[in-house]
Amino acid sequence: MSENKNILQDTHGRDHAYLRISLTERCNLRCTYCMPADGIQLSPKSHLMTYEEIYEIAKTFVKHGVTKIRLTGGEPLVRKDIPVILEKLASLPVELSITSNAVIIDKFVAILKANGVNKINVSLDSLDASKFKHITRRHEFKKVYDNILLLVKEGFTVKVNAVLMKGFNDNEIIDFINFTKDLPISVRFIEFMPFDGNKWDMSKMVSYAEVMKYVSEAFKEKDIIRLQDSPNDTSKNYKIKGYQGSFAIISSVTNPFCDSCNRLRLTANGQLKNCLFSATESDLLTSLRAGKPIESIIDKAVQAKFKVRGGMDTLKKLQKPDLHSKNRSMITIGG
Ligand code: SAM
Repeated sequence: MSENKNILQDTHGRDHAYLRISLTERCNLRCTYCMPADGIQLSPKSHLMTYEEIYEIAKTFVKHGVTKIRLTGGEPLVRKDIPVILEKLASLPVELSITSNAVIIDKFVAILKANGVNKINVSLDSLDASKFKHITRRHEFKKVYDNILLLVKEGFTVKVNAVLMKGFNDNEIIDFINFTKDLPISVRFIEFMPFDGNKWDMSKMVSYAEVMKYVSEAFKEKDIIRLQDSPNDTSKNYKIKGYQGSFAIISSVTNPFCDSCNRLRLTANGQLKNCLFSATESDLLTSLRAGKPIESIIDKAVQAKFKVRGGMDTLKKLQKPDLHSKNRSMITIGG
C-alpha cells in the first residue's frame, strides 16, 4: 500500500470522512424494530473494544481523513466509561456527536458540553406515552420528552429520529411536525429498515411519498418549504412556514442516498462495516490486539463497498429475508 493512497476512498469515488462508533450492544430500551424479541447474545466483555482501543482505531481513521465521529450503540450513555471515551475522542480534530435515546442524558449535559458535543440525535417514535411503552417495552416517555426540552434549553442542536411504522405511528406525522412549531428541533422520519430479527416487511414501512402525502393534506402547498440539504445529508429537509424547527425524511428504503454516502461503522466488538446493510464485516480489533497495522484491513473493506445498500440495489433484493439474516440486528450494528 503506497504511503499516499487514500484508503478511505472507495471504487465509486466516495470519500469516507464520517465514522460511527458503537460503544456497546446494551440498551436501556427494547425497541421492537431494533432488538429481536428474544433478545440478543451479548458479546463477552473481553471481545468489546476498551476505551484505549476505541481511541487507537479512531486515531487511525482520523489520520486518513475522518473529520466526524458519532457515538452510538446500543445506548452509548449506558457505558460506564463514557466520560473517558468522550474526553479521549474530543482530543482528536473531529466533530464529535452522539445518538441517544435520551433516557439518562440529563446526567451528561455538563460532560457532553465540556467535550464539545453540540449535536445530539434523540430517538423518539411516539408522542403518546402508552405507544412509547409499547414500542420500547419501557415506561420512559416522560424522561425522554423532558430531556429533549432540556437539551434544547441547554443550547444543543437536537434532531429527533422517529421510525415510522404503518398503523402504529403514521397517524402522528403531523403531531411530530407540530412539535417543531415552537421548538428549534428537526424531526426526522425514518423509513423502517430490515435487519436481522426485526420482522420487517415492506407493508409495515411508511415511505417518503406517503409522509409527503400526509403533509400536503395537512398544510397549504405555499407553507411547505423545501430546505437546502447539507452535503452528504441522508435526509430530505423541509419546514413549515413560521415554524421554528424543521422536519426531514430519511428514505433508505425507497430512495437511498448511497451516491453521497461518506459513512463507515465500527461495531462495539471492533468490526468495521462499510455499509449499514452490509452482510460482511472486517475485524480490526483482533489485528490491533496482535499489534498489527489495521490500515490494510480498512483499505480492503472500503474497496469492497457496494455502490448501493450493501449490494441490495433493488427493492426486490431488499425484500429477500435471507439477506437480512446475514446482517446483524440494528442494536449490535449501531444505527
Ligand atoms: N440508543 C440510541 C438511540 O436510541 O438513538 C442509539 C442506537 S439506535 C440503534 C440508533 C438509531 O437507529 C435510532 O434512531 C433508531 O430509531 C434507529 N433504528 C433502529 N432500528 C431501525 C430500523 N429497523 N429501521 C430504521 N431505523 C432504525
